[in-house]
Amino acid sequence: MADCLFCKIAAGQIPSTKVYEDDLVYAFRDIAPQAPTHILVIPKAHIGSVAEVTPENSHLVARVFEAIAQIAQAEGLTQGYRVVSNCGADAGQSVHHLHFHILGGRQLTLEMA
Ligand code: 5GP
Ligand code: ZN
Repeated sequence: MADCLFCKIAAGQIPSTKVYEDDLVYAFRDIAPQAPTHILVIPKAHIGSVAEVTPENSHLVARVFEAIAQIAQAEGLTQGYRVVSNCGADAGQSVHHLHFHILGGRQLTLEMA
């Protein structure tokens, strides 16, 4: 997608602090971290949100989660971490390219809403 911030980040057209990359997945540090470790993991291909996951593209989500497990280990998140994906307006999704937040490095509160 020509005008998508995270497509541009995945393509290296906008700088980011990369923590992981393979042929299908890109991960980088959130610009406004909400925890000591706050990483965004995205498929390189454009998917708008969880609402746009289909049988045709769900293998990309599986690959994202394989990367998440690897990244968490590499980041030393041995005490645990949270994976969050905001979908749509009520969840406050602000970038419309599917992304999963990895949050860790401190005790996270249980607030869900
Ligand atoms: P959302 O609110 O859509 O779930 O999450 C979007 C996330 O992207 C936010 O946590 C925000 O801080 C992060 N973000 C927005 N723009 C940029 C950017 O240009 N670079 C990086 N690294 N993170 C960004
Ligand atoms: Zn995109």
